[in-house]
Amino acid sequence: MKKAYFGEFGGQFVPELLMPPLIELEEAYEQIVPSEDFQREFNSILKDYVGRPTPLTFCKNLSSELGFNLWLKREDLAHSGAHKINNTIGQALLTKYMGKKRLVAETGAGQHGVATATAAALLGLECIVFMGAKDVERQAPNVKRMELLGAEVRPVYSSTQTLKDAINEALRYWISHQRDTHYCLGSVVGPHPFPALVRDFQSVIGKEAKEQFLEKTNRLPDHVIACVGGGSNAMGIFYEFLEHREVKLTGVEAAGEGTPNCYHSATLNKGTLGILHGTKTYLLQTEDGQILPSHSVAPGLDYPGVGPEHAYLKETKRAEYVCVTDEQALSAFKVLCKKEGIIPALESSHALSFALNLKGKVKENYHVIVNLSGRGDKDLDIVFKHLK
Ligand SMILES: *Cc1c(COP(=O)(O)O)cnc(C)c1O
Repeated sequence: MKKAYFGEFGGQFVPELLMPPLIELEEAYEQIVPSEDFQREFNSILKDYVGRPTPLTFCKNLSSELGFNLWLKREDLAHSGAHKINNTIGQALLTKYMGKKRLVAETGAGQHGVATATAAALLGLECIVFMGAKDVERQAPNVKRMELLGAEVRPVYSSTQTLKDAINEALRYWISHQRDTHYCLGSVVGPHPFPALVRDFQSVIGKEAKEQFLEKTNRLPDHVIACVGGGSNAMGIFYEFLEHREVKLTGVEAAGEGTPNCYHSATLNKGTLGILHGTKTYLLQTEDGQILPSHSVAPGLDYPGVGPEHAYLKETKRAEYVCVTDEQALSAFKVLCKKEGIIPALESSHALSFALNLKGKVKENYHVIVNLSGRGDKDLDIVFKHLK
């Protein structure tokens, strides 16, 4: 495969001014990340700070109701409550190895901002997070969290005052401070090497899940399911299973409020080929190339594009992509709370909903792993508003 590409997807579609820091990052990805020193330090932080390995939990109560075996990979139990920390720790550590002193990031709902601020605090880096002014208002608790963690949150007042404007500002900042600043991207999106770099940092999820599952059952699972926003938790758990073609992989996108006809945030189901944030992939756009706003009850699934490697897995049919509505996700959320005593993130509830719907369609000895990407405490306000 052509470097920087997954089939025809990926690449580096960026302004000339962004090429020098990208080339520098590419070198760091190839030389520093695989080095023994880096790997030792990264793995030691994942173990003693993040709390890895996260458990692989068998859902006893639900499995007996469903008539097949349901397992959860517990990223909700990682420090700060979701998988995002695996990536931000990796990039923050890489920033130190590159001799830089500052992280710049953008955030929509604030989850990636909090994960970046956490990693920056741990590793003694400065941290600036750009956030649309509307998001700053809507996500006040996360702004407070970032500030407690020592980050500077800069509201962006241009255009729609949301995520896409924050991305533009963060990129502008990176261009003008590239010597001492790293741009900490939050998912497997953006120009090369980000999709590969973020995937590699998240691939610890699948490595652990495979090892834990083999140890418990002496076989591979039949099916691995994860929700897809930008696609990092899904790539993280899929990657280790790609070579095992007998393991079915399903990515679950958000269909928003509508019927399950996959519209609002269902990029791979409804999107068309285009260029977003420096990479060639599927995205939600009008016929003349205007990006369409995405929408989902789950804040982390609200992204109009998807990582290029997912586009490739869809094209080559190694993975399938489906979608689930807000209502279906909320109902799966309730089921997991009541039946297993676990409050899942609304993002993860999308993956769970698809798994619950396998009832009656698979045999008794079928084994399904759902990547529980995060915990749901952050979503209680949204949930109560909808459950009324
Ligand atoms: C951010 C987030 C997601 C979506 O991001 P991906 O890059 O698709 O993984 C999913 N679940 C949780 C809990 C998140 O915080």
